[in-house]
Parts: sequence; C-alpha cells; structure tokens
Amino acid sequence: MATSPSRYDTIVIGSGMGGTSAAALLAKAGLRTLLLEKNPRLGGSCSYYEKRGFHIDYGTHMFSRGWKGPLGAVQRRLGIPRERRVRFVRTRDIAVLRGQGFELAVPSEGWRMPAFCLEAVRLMKVPLRELPRVTKLFADIVTMSEAAIAEWDGRTVEELLLEYTDNPRLFGALGLLLGLYFILPFWEVSAGEAIWCFQKMARDNALSYPVGGSYALPRTLCDAAARYGASIETRAGVRRIEPAADGKLRVTTSDGRELTARAVVSTTSRRELADGLCPPGTLPSAWSARASATRGSYIAVQAKIALRRPRERAGCLVGSVARDPGFDPLAITMDDYRVMFADIAAGRVPKVVPIYCPIPTNFDAALGPPGTQLLTACMVAPTTEDGHGTRPIDGWQDSERKWIDAMMAAMAALIPGLEADTLFADTMGVQAIASWIGKRGGPAVSTGQTPEQSGARRPGVRTPLHGLYVAGDGAGARGVGTELACASGMLCADAVLADLGGGASAGARS
Ligand SMILES: Cc1cc2nc3c(=O)[nH]c(=O)nc-3n(C[C@H](O)[C@H](O)[C@H](O)COP(=O)(O)OP(=O)(O)OC[C@H]3O[C@@H](n4cnc5c(N)ncnc54)[C@H](O)[C@@H]3O)c2cc1C
Repeated sequence: MATSPSRYDTIVIGSGMGGTSAAALLAKAGLRTLLLEKNPRLGGSCSYYEKRGFHIDYGTHMFSRGWKGPLGAVQRRLGIPRERRVRFVRTRDIAVLRGQGFELAVPSEGWRMPAFCLEAVRLMKVPLRELPRVTKLFADIVTMSEAAIAEWDGRTVEELLLEYTDNPRLFGALGLLLGLYFILPFWEVSAGEAIWCFQKMARDNALSYPVGGSYALPRTLCDAAARYGASIETRAGVRRIEPAADGKLRVTTSDGRELTARAVVSTTSRRELADGLCPPGTLPSAWSARASATRGSYIAVQAKIALRRPRERAGCLVGSVARDPGFDPLAITMDDYRVMFADIAAGRVPKVVPIYCPIPTNFDAALGPPGTQLLTACMVAPTTEDGHGTRPIDGWQDSERKWIDAMMAAMAALIPGLEADTLFADTMGVQAIASWIGKRGGPAVSTGQTPEQSGARRPGVRTPLHGLYVAGDGAGARGVGTELACASGMLCADAVLADLGGGASAGARS
C-alpha cells in the first residue's frame, strides 16, 4: 500500500544541530522522515543572515572539538564523502584574552602551551606556591577516567576547585575557564560535565570554526538527509503533538495540517513540550512537572560588527571590562563573582562586562567582502524568564537596551578605534534570539548542565509518551552546546531505531 503523504515513520521538529543530526540518521536508516522548521531559514542557533556581502551567524559560535568530536562523527556516520564534509579551520592564536592591562594570546599549537601557562601565571600574579596545585588540577582533569568523572557529575566546579586552591584570583579565573562554555556561573555547573568537556577539548586540540560559517553544519546534514529521501519544510511550525490511533502520534502544524508518525523527535526544550506542545494530560503529571522546572542556562545579548579593515588577529576575543574604573581585576574576590551573577540573574547589568567574540572572517575570509573583518560579540544576559525559568523578570524588556549599550561600550574599550572602522553594527537582544530558537525564555542550553541535570541524572531522550522523543540541548549526551545537541541527536536516532525495531515503513529505502 502506498504511504499517504501525511504519514511518516518519523517527524523531527527543529533544524538545529540536534534535529538535523537525528533527521539525517533516521533517513539514512530508511525511515520515511519529515523535518519541520518554524523559521523561514534552517539551522536554529547555527542559522545565519546576509548583509552587505557579509554572511553573519545568528548565534555566537566556536566549536570546541571541531572535526574530532560529534560534529565530525555524525558526518562520518552519514557516509558523507570527505570532500563534502564541513572543513574546520584553526587560527595560529585561537583566542586572545584581554582585560584591564591584560593581553594574552592563546596558542593553537600544543608546544606553545607551556609558555602560555607561564605567562598567564605571571600576568595574574599568581603566587608560585600555587603552581604545583594548578598543574595537578590540569593533569587530573586531562587523565581522569570516565568512572572518576561520573563521580563528579553531582558536584559543582566550585567544589572541584576547592580541592586544589582557595586563591581567589586563580579560583575565579579557573572557574570562568571551566564554566564559560555552559553559560552558567561555575558554582552551578556540574564538575563532571566540565571535566569531561575540558578533557575532550584538550586531548582533541581542535577548537575551531567551520568554512562557510556555523550554518555549514546544519546545511551539510540537511543535504545528507535530503539525499536519503527526507522531506524538509521551513515556515512549518508545530503547534501540537498528541496520541493518534494505532499507537502513532499526531502532529498539528501552525497552518492546521495534521500529520501522523510512528515517532516524533522534538528539539524544542522539555519545558516547551510540557507547557506548550503536548495538551494537558498527554504526558504524566510527574514528568511534566519535572520538565517545567528544568533549569536552563543563561543567554546573551549579541552584536555583529562589520569592520572596513581587520583589527584583530586571533580567532576569538575573550575579554572583560569593568564599568567602574576603580575596579582592580587582580583584587577580585569570590564575593565579586557572586554579586556579578546575582546582578545578571536579576536583570541588572553587572559591574564587570564579560565579552565573548568569535571572529568568523579570521577563519574563512569569504564570510565578508575582501579586506573586511566580522566580529560576532556577545555578553551573557538573563533569559526572558527568571533563573529557574518560571517567571518573567520585571521590566526586562525595558532594560535590554542598557545591556546592549554596556556590551558595545565594552567592545569599544577592548578595541580602541573600533567605531571609526565600523561599517555597521547589528545588535540583537534576548527576545530576538529566544523567538528564533523557540525555546521558552530563550536559554542558550535549554537543559543546563547543572549537577542535577548532568551525567546519569540528565533527562533521557525518551519520554513516557510512546513514540515521543527529545533531542538537542534539552536531553541526553554530554558536551558543549552544538556538540551536545549533535551527540544527543545521534543518541536519539539510535533510540528511535531500537524502539521501532529498525522496521522502516513500506517504500522505505534500505
Ligand atoms: C548566543 C549563543 C552563543 C552560543 N555559543 C556557543 C558556542 O560558542 N559553542 C557551542 O558549541 N554552542 C554555543 N551555543 C549553544 C548552541 O548553539 C546550542 O546549544 C545548540 O546549537 C542547540 O541546538 P539544538 O538543536 O538543541 O536547538 P536549536 O539550534 O536552538 O534549534 C531548535 C530549532 O527548533 C525550531 N523550533 C522550535 N520550536 C518549533 C516548533 N514548534 N515547530 C517547528 N520548529 C520549532 C527552532 O526554530 C530552531 O530552529 C550558543 C548559543 C547561543 C544562543
């Protein structure tokens, strides 16, 4: 019997790294697969826009393990020929760290690392007696077994560091280093997750950025999915998921179409499923209550700054600027860090503005017109709902402008003369990125990597509703942002295939 066009084996919701990884693998396994994306353009957080000859990432990205991590693995699993795989590039200095009177290039070559570490210690005026302990910390992190890492899953990065040092400056710097990727303060990040990610990043030594911009990744996976016969639709938002006859699920789109599938993979957040897409009563109340209380990470305000000439050499600028000129970064205390994050959580611009700014044209000059440079800066900011994702922060919309102004002022302080070379600077608030990715509140990572939500305690990709799965940064796997989402997409595809018994519907390709 021919398969009706509205019936699928699998429907995947969302075309970020999680959705495209899952959809491409499911299509490759021979399942009749449909990928639905609500936006006019594919890619989710890795999407892009174009302006005056620049190809501009919608998010703000670096890829911690490049081709050696899940982003390479998924392409190999899909059988994408080498010449069609995304090519990751490194710059000689992968990043530059810059602050008040502080400038330190982070080398990409391993052999330059010892000199970098010595210089970091000198600039930070770390007492020599701390050195053996710091060296032991890194040696322990890089050599720790999976079993030992798992024992740290339920504890925080702060607890980990306390075993090695209580020097406040060192403590703060190491905390930021180990916590940066999770977009949470280090006293809320799972130590196990941080150790695992840092270990993989250090061993792989492949922190990089793709030719063609971040979008090259979901695009390549969509191309593979389409080659394996998947259908892909944009402007196709999903409004509702509910059980249908024969153990299948019914998906209703925003334009009222009803589609059925044996399995549905959602890459919106768990909260979005529990509080939005699944009608009340569809999921057990205990699961829904846990999903609604999921702790997301923070997010960021962003700036895309196009320059008429290159100003920076490294692949990424990581900096901090104190808004109070009397602030001494060498005298920073743990209390200062706690006040900063309390301010961020409450929607107040912190006293020290942290900047993370990948420079895509330093990896692929074709992302801008000849001779130009593109800076993609961001500054951590609260989500549109409070820290535990339950309540909008009072007046947040009104204060968002202040955050953007603080970020732009920090960029001007970090790169003197920036304004004179600026062709245009597009800024993006939290509301814009939140509505683009469609995850309630707009967290950068929808199930934040806290001790309660990491390792064995991380929510799984299966849900109690037969046939419904969660993938992307909302469930399963380990890793940094995009890599977490991609690994989760692979895990989810494996779960769907195991549960469907590998049985593709009539007409499926082998
Ligand atoms: C500012 C910023 C900086 C970041 N920096 C880094 C970094 O440096 N390195 C890194 O690895 N990660 C980083 N991340 C995190 C990373 O981008 C994400 O964790 C990851 O890409 C999420 O992938 P995903 O597949 O889970 O979801 P997304 O990429 O968010 O995709 C979800 C998709 O689902 C679609 N969708 C939602 N609801 C519906 C619906 N009802 N119907 C149809 N479609 C729907 C959305 O439109 C979206 O396209 C950053 C994120 C942000 C926002």
